[in-house]
Amino acid sequence: MRVLIVDDQHSIRIVSSSIVSSMGHDTVEVSNGQDAIDLCEKEKIDLILMDAAMPDMDGFETTKRIRQLSSSWFPIIFLSAKTDPKFFAEGIKSGGDIYLYKPIVPEVLESMIHAMERIVNIQDELHGTKVKMELLAYQDELTGLVNRRGFDKALAIEFKHAKKEKSALSVLMIDVDNFKPFNDHYGHQAGDECLKVVAIVLKETACRPTDIVTRYGGEEFALILPNTNLAQAEIVGDRIIAAFKKLAYGHDYSSVENYITVSGGMAQLMDEAEPKAIVQKADTALYLAKKSGRNKILNISE
Ligand code: GH3
Ligand code: MG
Ligand code: MG
Repeated sequence: MRVLIVDDQHSIRIVSSSIVSSMGHDTVEVSNGQDAIDLCEKEKIDLILMDAAMPDMDGFETTKRIRQLSSSWFPIIFLSAKTDPKFFAEGIKSGGDIYLYKPIVPEVLESMIHAMERIVNIQDELHGTKVKMELLAYQDELTGLVNRRGFDKALAIEFKHAKKEKSALSVLMIDVDNFKPFNDHYGHQAGDECLKVVAIVLKETACRPTDIVTRYGGEEFALILPNTNLAQAEIVGDRIIAAFKKLAYGHDYSSVENYITVSGGMAQLMDEAEPKAIVQKADTALYLAKKSGRNKILNISE
């Protein structure tokens, strides 16, 4: 998660930041309410640790404004030296989710961040389930994956969602290498069986509840990976290449290896006005992967 720490006291920010970092999260720090509001408008934040008492704008007012301005929900945890229950109540009323007392007790803060992370994950899963329900009617008969029309629909939905949430979104285009010779030598039915296996491998590698694996057409597949930047998409790409190596599905007529391999390209949502642009970029990368020897998944948008 990306955790924003809002506190006018430098020493408190250091303590909070070290606790959050030790949990494996990224941190951003600001020293006042207005900077917190500005940051939330510009960037994706997954959780806030909010000081209650700050000069100029206090944490309650800051929280109220963030809730008004933001189109998405993320947890806000108050950290406050004010132990009077009326402040506790005010914190929750302003839009906070948890109110903890200072001085910070690391175990308590860690546990609360864990609990909030669970809710964030449930929120993502719910979104994934909702999208998958909408795609039920778009099924590819051979592989059971989402079909091409479903891909277009899913991409449009995720594109909009990623923009609203300011979250990352990557697309991977994957094409089976030397599939024509496979068909020619082993027969069309064996080709069909092979495509079914490719579909299973891809589903097993892109396994987050929000990942969407589709059959783009023929022996080409497209993966939509919400909340995934290019660095993370590269990891998925590496896993796919490794999975086919491990599977070693025999293909004696391949120009690459003696088993089925795939090539691919990836792209992520940047400032595109249209989802089509991401697909085009990923396609260009796929083309280069083919040209440069196959059996690789390229990211060319450095
Ligand atoms: P490259 O490594 O450049 O991708 O070469 P390729 O042979 O995989 O690509 P090409 O586009 O020349 O051939 C794709 C083949 O995939 C041709 C087509 O007959 C086969 N194919 C497409 N859809 C299906 C299908 O549903 N079942 C079967 N068995 N074959 C299919
Ligand atoms: Mg092809
Ligand atoms: Mg091919």
